[in-house]
Amino acid sequence: MIFYLYFRIISMIYSSISMEFSDLVGQIKTYNPNCDEQLLQLAYEFARDAHAGQVRVNGEDYVQHSLATAMNLANMKMDDTTIIAGLLHDVPKMTSVTAKDIQKNFGTEIAGLVEGVTKLGQLKYRGMERYAENLRNMFVAMAKDLRVVLIKFADRLHNLESLSVLEPVKQQRIATEVLEIYAPIANRLGMGAVKKALEDKAFEYVFPEDYRMVYEQVAPKYKEKEQYFSRVQDELSQSLRENGVTSFSIEYRLKGFYSIFRKMKKKDDESINALQDLVALRVIVDSVADCYTTLGVIHQLWKPLSGRIKDYIAQPKPNNYRSLHTTVFCENGEIVEFQIRTKDMDKDAKFGIAAHWSYDESGKNSVPVKKIDWLQEASELPQAEEEYAESVRLDVFKDRIFVFTPRGDVINLTEDSTIIDFAYHIHSEVGLHCIGGKINDVMSSLDTKLSSGDVVEIITDKNRKKPNIDWLKFAKTSFARSRIRAQLREAGELLSS
Ligand code: MN
Repeated sequence: MIFYLYFRIISMIYSSISMEFSDLVGQIKTYNPNCDEQLLQLAYEFARDAHAGQVRVNGEDYVQHSLATAMNLANMKMDDTTIIAGLLHDVPKMTSVTAKDIQKNFGTEIAGLVEGVTKLGQLKYRGMERYAENLRNMFVAMAKDLRVVLIKFADRLHNLESLSVLEPVKQQRIATEVLEIYAPIANRLGMGAVKKALEDKAFEYVFPEDYRMVYEQVAPKYKEKEQYFSRVQDELSQSLRENGVTSFSIEYRLKGFYSIFRKMKKKDDESINALQDLVALRVIVDSVADCYTTLGVIHQLWKPLSGRIKDYIAQPKPNNYRSLHTTVFCENGEIVEFQIRTKDMDKDAKFGIAAHWSYDESGKNSVPVKKIDWLQEASELPQAEEEYAESVRLDVFKDRIFVFTPRGDVINLTEDSTIIDFAYHIHSEVGLHCIGGKINDVMSSLDTKLSSGDVVEIITDKNRKKPNIDWLKFAKTSFARSRIRAQLREAGELLSS
């Protein structure tokens, strides 16, 4: 309990410190000394002026949220473009300044990112299991540029930090959405650090009792074992040097509370017994060869558990995670997990897909890959069955679009679908009585093609008794086409086939 309170107080103090623009630039310069400070400053002032007078529920200026979102992106070592879009991400949604204004001032690329974030903001998770998978796929499919997803993560991370001031219903909705939608996507994109941060912050709100239960067990145990880990660290360091591995670092990190909790639930055991469930020791070396040498050194020192050696370097996970894993009977018979990887692999494991837009240690920009067909890449890798199924599912969604009902429900349609397809998808009767439709509040003709993110509203007239035969010219989904034919036959307009 004391640990828990201590933790809460620290996080309250932490979240009430306001941020300055100079803090952001300082952070960016640690990895990108040549950043475009002037443009960043302009974006900051643009956001500050646009949001002027707006305050968040906790009383701070709205621009604090813009800055915090940008800071989260800087912590992922993102490029200027993404950070600027992060500063501006709520401007079109919250103010009278439009996406067009952003485009005039900051160009098409940044405006496109901001627009993508605004569109994703329309997504509403209604807490129904059957929607979760659809929503996750839609999320990725809609964000044609994956940087949009990264900005959304940065945005949501800060929302979670300031969640305590919201009313409980809202807390639940936001945090549940994070566990069901955001964290699994972060995982899919290989962003281990973001996934952990999202999960642990949301966990506390979705399952407060469980969170406290895990916290109260883990915190004292971790403290008690710190000395133990530093002894293991020393012993391994010495042995590595003796075996010619001279450049390395060893760190031990507490695993995420939410993943600890899920493991407990899987085992149906509400106690943390083995340290392997609590902490992973990570050894970071210079080369792949050193990874395998390190594995050998660890196995010489401590006996490995059979079946627990995993070579994700030879066989990376579908999300491109690479590392060697082993679990050993360590000092005093404690069971400890080791993860061995190079610096590059470590960066990938923490930032995943984001690493493509981030800066490396020398301050150079990594090769900017604008559009990564990571689904494709993933499908070429050897993978476990469950992961294989996942990539196939993703493949299925490749030629799909995701549109919304005015209530925010997600409708998944074939690419190039029209308003009439949407109407029939809702219900055959809605299709039959359809006389018009609005796309994003604009009256549109029935043959207008929909694109992901559109909000579609159908206008019906009960007096319409039969479909128009011309609809067959532009109805795209087989469901709509077959229903239209059937209704035409019933009305005697089409000969039965
Ligand atoms: Mn926001």
